[in-house]
Amino acid sequence: MNGSLEFETRQNATPVAVAEREALLANLGFGRTFTDHMVSISYSDGKGWYDARLEPYAPLRMDPATAVLHYAQSIFEGLKAYRAPDGGVVMFRPDANAARFVRSAERMAMPPLPPELFLHSLRVLIEQDRDWVPGSGESSLYLRPIQYASEVYLGVRPALQYQFLVLASPVGAIFAGGAKPCSIWLERENNRSGPGGTGAAKCGGNYASSLLAQAEAMRHGCEQVVFLDATEHRHFEELGGMNVFFVLGDTLVTPPLTDTILPGITRDSVITLARHRGLTVEERSYSIDEFRSDAASDALTEMFACGTAAVITPIARLLSADGEIVVGDGGSGRVTTSLRSALLDIQYGRAEDEFGWVQRIV
Ligand SMILES: *Cc1c(COP(=O)(O)O)cnc(C)c1O
Repeated sequence: MNGSLEFETRQNATPVAVAEREALLANLGFGRTFTDHMVSISYSDGKGWYDARLEPYAPLRMDPATAVLHYAQSIFEGLKAYRAPDGGVVMFRPDANAARFVRSAERMAMPPLPPELFLHSLRVLIEQDRDWVPGSGESSLYLRPIQYASEVYLGVRPALQYQFLVLASPVGAIFAGGAKPCSIWLERENNRSGPGGTGAAKCGGNYASSLLAQAEAMRHGCEQVVFLDATEHRHFEELGGMNVFFVLGDTLVTPPLTDTILPGITRDSVITLARHRGLTVEERSYSIDEFRSDAASDALTEMFACGTAAVITPIARLLSADGEIVVGDGGSGRVTTSLRSALLDIQYGRAEDEFGWVQRIV
């Protein structure tokens, strides 16, 4: 079951006090609070994966010459554990994250972590820190698996040693009161990825290359940035950390998966859900010119971004150096709102799980 590795458990001798934990859970943000424990597994060339531990959450000690600090050989995942109506804890499609973690590792020349070990690590951590899974509104326990080159060596080649960690962070709704329509900055100069690059791998480097545009977006009062294809700067690709959908009446259009786009699990779930509800989904290139004319003719009714952290977020307007384009009526559209609540109902174990997506942990 656990990929044939025994986990050693070291309990945190000084866990956060119950009252303090309750106070933290009552006032959640995103990504600043962490639970009492974490998972750690080491890898060494020749030895394979070894030394699997559930241990107290603590800072790492790192040699300044550790390879990841210099050459960014690192990948991550992001998924959530949800408090179900019966008080138990469920996860949404963790096997898909485990499989993507393997593909990301392969692209970054890293040894893949066996999916059953990935899944067992999540289970061990959630069971231990189950009291940290919040129970209110759209809150959840965000899980962050990472893998990085831990070899102390400045030579340039794939490292011979790696570290796998899983952290857990209770998070609230990104926007209080559900889905607040957001503004997007259209980036015309910088690319987050390009053909033959690492765009389809969930690696920190893709984020690093997106941050200059993200800063520009924030300077223009936008929450997020959308990138265009690196070759022609004509077709939409995705946001810095979310996939994008355009709604034209009863048809959803989303850019096709190429090696420049991250294959989002939320994206895949939205496509499945939408088709199941009788909507048409087209995975095809969509250009800014099409966007302009569809927005002008009101053929474009809604637009949204999707990803684990923000679920489904309506996009109200697109801003660029050329000015502003408002999408639909600038609010949360009907299709976006109903897909969002259908997805959340499945994720939280409130609706029947017709697609076999939900896994019970506790
Ligand atoms: C993680 C991520 C997404 C969303 O993927 P989900 O599996 O839906 O969370 C989209 N784009 C990028 C660049 C990402 O890193």
